[in-house]
Amino acid sequence: MYSLPKLTRDVSLNAIAVLTSGGDAPGMNPAIRSVARAALNAGIEVYGVQRGYSGLIIGDMALLDSASVSNIVQRGGTMLKSDRCDAFRDPAVRKQAAAILRERGVDGLVVIGGDGSLTGAHLLAEESGLAVVGLPGTIDNDIFGTDDTIGFDTAVTTALEAIDKIRDTALSHEQLFLVEVMGRNSGFIATQVGLAGGAEMILVPGYEIQVESICFQLAADRAAGKGSSGIIVVAEGPTPGLTYRLAERLRSHDQTAKVCILGHIQRGGSPTGHDRVLASCLGFSAVEYLRAGYSDIMIGVQNGQICQVPLEDVVNRSKPLDPALVDLVHLLHR
Ligand code: ADP
Repeated sequence: MYSLPKLTRDVSLNAIAVLTSGGDAPGMNPAIRSVARAALNAGIEVYGVQRGYSGLIIGDMALLDSASVSNIVQRGGTMLKSDRCDAFRDPAVRKQAAAILRERGVDGLVVIGGDGSLTGAHLLAEESGLAVVGLPGTIDNDIFGTDDTIGFDTAVTTALEAIDKIRDTALSHEQLFLVEVMGRNSGFIATQVGLAGGAEMILVPGYEIQVESICFQLAADRAAGKGSSGIIVVAEGPTPGLTYRLAERLRSHDQTAKVCILGHIQRGGSPTGHDRVLASCLGFSAVEYLRAGYSDIMIGVQNGQICQVPLEDVVNRSKPLDPALVDLVHLLHR
């Protein structure tokens, strides 16, 4: 459980808006529900903006009532839809978006999304003076300033279910599997899944893939009587096809490996209890911080406490993957 912030409510808000942007993540719906109900309970109107910044820049938004967010707490995806909107990178378009919000009497905006979406939120807050609060909504958990992001736990749980099944076949057929999980620039899913799934090895961005040393390790494992089955978890990396290329390279070293790409199943599905609780606490806190007069911040969680982090730091700094955890995956396999 998280401890919620206790803030003095300095500002009277008439209306706020909420949107989801970038890659969808399980838990966005409970976050929307929480933002909407926290605001409505405080007598604040809430607009739901359709399709992230794409809807914002054309004013595609409608007032939500309590019933609008009924029966979504358990649903994956986002009832508000999500999109990528290149036009929002243009300052003139952001100015237009701020004008639309002001025309509707909106005093504050909650943006739920990943690194890119939070960058847009930061620029909008900085340039327009509008009160903007971000929530970390991404399966990748690669957001600076928060220990956890909405969707990460569900994605890890989904990937683990798949890996447990793949292991049955790997054992039965004495085969090596390369299982690719999401993570273009980050290895958080791969590390968590590798640890929880008892992977032989994990390969994550930022660490050079050395085929010779992988083969050496596999040979050592076999010599130690570990059999010829196994799971290597591979983070997808920035360029598609990494895992197939790795299988090819292993083949040229006489190592046969089957490839399984988990892909988008990791983004969908009913959010876990953990993600629902996280999203609910973050959504409520976003409204509390807006009511206390804060802007240009992200609400995250650090050491079990809900906290606020300047969006400037969030978007300009990267969250490091603890190398000790990568080592731990390998150590626990020996
Ligand atoms: P995510 O939020 O999941 O990281 P993206 O990186 O695709 O997803 O970003 C989502 C959206 O956020 C983009 O389509 C764009 O509308 C907005 N965005 C991303 N980067 C910027 C930026 N540098 N300036 C303004 N808006 C941005």
